[in-house]
Amino acid sequence: MRAIVIGAGHNGLIASYYLRKTGFDVIIFDNRLGGMTDTTVIKGVKISRASYVLGLMPRKFVEEFEIPVIQQDPVQTIWLEDRVIPFWRDREKRIKELVNAGEDKFPEFEEKITKFKELLERKFTFVTTPPSEKEVREEAKKIGVEDVMRPSKEFLSKYLSEDLHYSFIYPGMENSPGYLVSYFYNDWSFVKGGMGTVAENIYEKAKKIGVDLINEKIDKILVENDKAVGVKVKDKVYKADVILSTASPAETMRLAEYDHKFFLHKPGWVKYNVILREIPKVCERIKGFLNSIIDFEGGEVVIPSVLDDNRGGVVMEFMGNYDEVMERFKGEILHVDKLNAKNAEEIYNLPAGDLNHLPMREPYLFDGRPEKGWGYKTPINNLYLGGAGTYPGGQVSGIPGYNSARLIILDKLGRDLIT
Ligand SMILES: Cc1cc2nc3c(=O)[nH]c(=O)nc-3n(C[C@H](O)[C@H](O)[C@H](O)COP(=O)(O)OP(=O)(O)OC[C@H]3O[C@@H](n4cnc5c(N)ncnc54)[C@H](O)[C@@H]3O)c2cc1C
Repeated sequence: MRAIVIGAGHNGLIASYYLRKTGFDVIIFDNRLGGMTDTTVIKGVKISRASYVLGLMPRKFVEEFEIPVIQQDPVQTIWLEDRVIPFWRDREKRIKELVNAGEDKFPEFEEKITKFKELLERKFTFVTTPPSEKEVREEAKKIGVEDVMRPSKEFLSKYLSEDLHYSFIYPGMENSPGYLVSYFYNDWSFVKGGMGTVAENIYEKAKKIGVDLINEKIDKILVENDKAVGVKVKDKVYKADVILSTASPAETMRLAEYDHKFFLHKPGWVKYNVILREIPKVCERIKGFLNSIIDFEGGEVVIPSVLDDNRGGVVMEFMGNYDEVMERFKGEILHVDKLNAKNAEEIYNLPAGDLNHLPMREPYLFDGRPEKGWGYKTPINNLYLGGAGTYPGGQVSGIPGYNSARLIILDKLGRDLIT
């Protein structure tokens, strides 16, 4: 049975690997390996051009694909006007630090989030049908953590000072369930050689078992009598028994000439990858924490070269305000690479430049992602979806890719990937 996978981002690669492992002939189409999980070399220096830290990928995949993570400690450092708060990897140490910093209710916050995350992991991660918000809420209630499902801002206000909130939730998500706070609250790590190593390692394993990658973008998904039957690349047609697209849902439905409206707007994010002569100079208070993810109101900054000597030079990667960051992190600049929603749209084949393919808020949460009633399928028979625009959502996790492959295996072979 032949499966065509559209997109060689990390989700497409993970899906291909598991499809091949269960016996499908798999061809992936993409004109770039890794999608937004890539390492780009500029002036001999390896930069993680888009995504820069790994935190949502289940241990199962980190181990299976031998991802070389670098576990910096502290994980993250919040740099406020009057306080510097390191988030240590060790839970007890972290709690003690936060309480000492005056965050008396942090232990309760950690307990709630931890229990909620365990619930997600146990019941709502490896699924073939996304859960509804109501199902998650009811299960959360059973274990006493229903307030995580309150609007993020309200949930955070209950436990943490307001000047810390920006570090726990992205703008525009404040009124969505605190589920999103838990989604992003993780033991983030660096990856040796940059994020491209994630994609390369998965690809190497997939290639070894026979997955083919064709270095082309597809022009059209061929549909006959409401059934996807193949793809067209330039003048060539490739037939398939099943098609899995990990391109964004908007791009997928456009390729299938299926009229469906997604609410997309061009987000305002900017990512800078700055190559410096040497590790930047910072004020005394933050000097000891340059190995971690540094969060201040002007941006989120990482200097992976502090820990990773595979980068070929000094790179500082950040999302935020360029002037404010460079004011605090001083040094001789050799090169600046700027990525925003506009150029990412072109570089990563990404409609509207949404780094999660669809916004991470209503109506695109839980079983509303990418559309109520779709899950990992589309209204077109044989056309499945498995990228960041499906449940549970964006970031480098591999979960959508795995879940969609699992559903295809169930539908087509009648057996389950999880034993
Ligand atoms: C600036 C920035 C910073 C980020 N930071 C982080 C971070 O630190 N940590 C984190 O976890 N996440 C981060 N993210 C988000 C994360 O990178 C993405 O959500 C994730 O990589 C999406 O993976 P994917 O495989 O689902 O999709 P993608 O990586 O988008 O892959 C989809 C692939 O489909 C291909 N495609 C599209 N159309 C076609 C076509 N017609 N034919 C063939 N192929 C096609 C594309 O070329 C692409 O390679 C960041 C993203 C950006 C842009």
